[in-house]
Amino acid sequence: MVRVRFAPSPTGSLHLGGALSAVANRSFADEHGGAFLLRIDDTDPARNVEGGAEAIVSDLEWLGVRWDEGPVRQSERHVRHREAAHLVGEPDAEGALRFGQTTLLRPDGTPTYQLASAVDDMDLEITHVIRGSDHRANAELQAALIRALGAEPPEYVHHGLLLGEDGSKLSKRHGASSLADLREAGIPPEAVHAYLVELGLPKHDVHLDLSRLRRLSIEALAALSDEELAERVGVPVSVAPVLRGARDLREAREYAKQVLEPERVEVDAPETLQRFRELVEGGVDARGVVRELKAVGGDLKAVRLALTGRERGPELWAVIAALPREDLLARTDLG
Ligand code: GLU
Repeated sequence: MVRVRFAPSPTGSLHLGGALSAVANRSFADEHGGAFLLRIDDTDPARNVEGGAEAIVSDLEWLGVRWDEGPVRQSERHVRHREAAHLVGEPDAEGALRFGQTTLLRPDGTPTYQLASAVDDMDLEITHVIRGSDHRANAELQAALIRALGAEPPEYVHHGLLLGEDGSKLSKRHGASSLADLREAGIPPEAVHAYLVELGLPKHDVHLDLSRLRRLSIEALAALSDEELAERVGVPVSVAPVLRGARDLREAREYAKQVLEPERVEVDAPETLQRFRELVEGGVDARGVVRELKAVGGDLKAVRLALTGRERGPELWAVIAALPREDLLARTDLG
């Protein structure tokens, strides 16, 4: 049976490149009726961030990538790692245990990534290691270690890395290097997931395509019902008409704020506002109101300002449709 693992180091919110590995492992397991194991590679204290493992777990949940087993923390398997190191390692002058050129156990007895990863892949009966090409150089050594320990190594599959749009290593400055960044930018998880599925297992490095991601965000929001969309944004479903014009959840939140928390602004357009009130009182629907005002050369900007306190925002008919009649009247009341 196919068994894969996703093995991030707990350095904080998942990097988009790591998320690509996670999605690729999940897809591979699903295609082969296999199991996906989550392993937290926390052998290197210098790379462990407080709350890092929890951030990864909630990132995977957000992204919709499930795991069948784990999380297994490597730090809980030190005894086994040490035992394996003693089976195949040779002591050096500093008191470390080595396998050829590679340190397996540091002089203080702590296992290295190379040792822990090989031993865990072996013990957890991983059949395919699917990870970024930055680990390609580790495969030969890890396979040799597993053979020396008397087992058959897994198959190693390395995918190209996800780089920034400019081709450099993906980092904060690209605006979207981690899942936390994307979540904060209001990109729905379905869009991120769809984007990573599209990339599949790239043979070569790929540049992040933010405009593709934004397009998928629009599609993901369009696929949500009014109720789901309003719930994601945390607003009543009556506001849905303005949310519909938003390209991401952050924009949707801003649009909702315009109708739910209007700013008070002096508006000097008595004729337009009077006509607006008549149309609303007459029960004309939102699109009809805009059409009628346009027909008489009304000041639509003034209506927007009166209703939201802003000069720009969602389409005016949507603002009107999202507000109850008494709010429409109160906000355009010239007093
Ligand atoms: N923990 C390693 C990392 O986060 C991955 C190890 C592996 O996949 O073998 O880069």
